Amino acid sequence: MNKFLLLFSFLMFLTHAWGQGSKCGTEELLREFRLLHPNASIENSQSTHRALYDSIIIIPTVVHVMHGLEDSVVGRKSNLTKKQIESQIAALNRDFNRENWDSVATDPMFKPLGGKAKILFQLAEKDPQGNPTDGIDRVPYANSYGHGMGSDDIRMKNLSRWNPEKYFNLWVVGEILNGTLGYAFLPYMLATDSTQRKRLDGVVIGSYYFGSAKEKSANDTFYLDAIYNLGRTTVHEVGHYFNLDHTWGNGGGCSSTDSVEDTPISNNPIFGCQSGPFECGNYRMTENYMEYSDDRCMNIFTKGQVERMRYTVREYPFRFSLADTANLRATGLFPYEPKRLELDSFVGNFYVGRPVSRKLSGTVFNRLNQPWGGSTVYLELKTSPLGAAFYDSVTATADGRFSFQLPTPEAEGVYSFHAFIKTPNFLVDSIRLTTQTSAPKNQFWVGTVGENGFSLHSKMAYPMNVTATIGDATGRMLQQKKFLTLNDGIVELDFPFPTGVYWIRLETEVGVETVKWIQR
Ligand SMILES: [Zn+2]
Repeated sequence: MNKFLLLFSFLMFLTHAWGQGSKCGTEELLREFRLLHPNASIENSQSTHRALYDSIIIIPTVVHVMHGLEDSVVGRKSNLTKKQIESQIAALNRDFNRENWDSVATDPMFKPLGGKAKILFQLAEKDPQGNPTDGIDRVPYANSYGHGMGSDDIRMKNLSRWNPEKYFNLWVVGEILNGTLGYAFLPYMLATDSTQRKRLDGVVIGSYYFGSAKEKSANDTFYLDAIYNLGRTTVHEVGHYFNLDHTWGNGGGCSSTDSVEDTPISNNPIFGCQSGPFECGNYRMTENYMEYSDDRCMNIFTKGQVERMRYTVREYPFRFSLADTANLRATGLFPYEPKRLELDSFVGNFYVGRPVSRKLSGTVFNRLNQPWGGSTVYLELKTSPLGAAFYDSVTATADGRFSFQLPTPEAEGVYSFHAFIKTPNFLVDSIRLTTQTSAPKNQFWVGTVGENGFSLHSKMAYPMNVTATIGDATGRMLQQKKFLTLNDGIVELDFPFPTGVYWIRLETEVGVETVKWIQR
């Protein structure tokens, strides 16, 4: 008898006794799988297959909104808005690529382990028939609010499924039974039986856990759970989709491992917002996405996990087929391969209490380095420990350019500005600015240069436009020059002047300074 049929026959008879500890249903699926396949294990991808390739992996994604019959109107509860769906895609790209705002919250001892998967999820732009699509399929589903992981699973997927070798299928149901937030099948569970794989492959999430409040605009209405509201249930399940185990392994106890070298061995599932209890001989990485912590307390995939996920794409043909160029063309994503966002270096004053005279600018490109107009670019000022303190958004012009008026610095310090776009990819660039001394006094002094002029010395830390007006003792203007200073450089003004008293008025973007010069 087919092993998978056996597995799912067994699942069908599982009772409601799954209990409170089943935040992630994958644990149950794995438990049953291991009963039937005691010798199966994920091969350890570490050491022997490092850095097979380093390109960005695009995953064409379809979201099947399996909404309740009563939720026929888009935006009503389980029939999630497009914005809520997009917020989840943005959250995946954010967390898989360590672009999450809270990566700073990773315990200092684990911070060096943080990995960027370079995996990007994009909603498909062509459906399996080659027609245009937004990558969202809305289907009424009678059991949406009472979905079970057993026999319901295939029945539900049969209602709406795109070829899982071409699309990453994400199903959202109203609610999964028994307090389960989501579940997934690991590739190694599906590797040996292609028929079952094509029926099962993908991730199922309850609607209240799908989407991210962090990626929500003020006037959007999202239906999200209070604790699992940052899209990390899906991040966790998609980790399974790329062959990641829970950090505690699936056998439980200190002898069970997730086969990843740099995740500390841990014991059993842990909930809530605990930080690093000492167990199994090390501090636990409770902030790992493959833990059961609350969304606000997860923030890291390790380098080892990232390596394993990329290895999975490379080694499992039914994962690799998602990301190859032919499939990106077929799913309409090829021209939209990842954008790039770059901030220009900032040259200008940044003084406490003074409006910033120059804008912070940058460019959005697509993968072929063509300027990318129309993107909404967001700018955020992050200060530690206050978080985001300034928020603005602009639309890039046709040539991909954008610019922001920076806020007036209120205190001395280092300011970190993050420009980012949310969709289709969550890309970020950052710039750090340190406030300059606010007083413009004594920035210039004058010396002589030969017979025909005087020199002007600048203490400015960066080039600055200066207008110099030279007047005599009576106040009559003799000459005016505009120039750009060099760092601590000397500017020669070729003004021939006889013995006498002169005033030199220096006007800069940080203020006006007047110096007196006596030519003897
Ligand atoms: Zn899990």
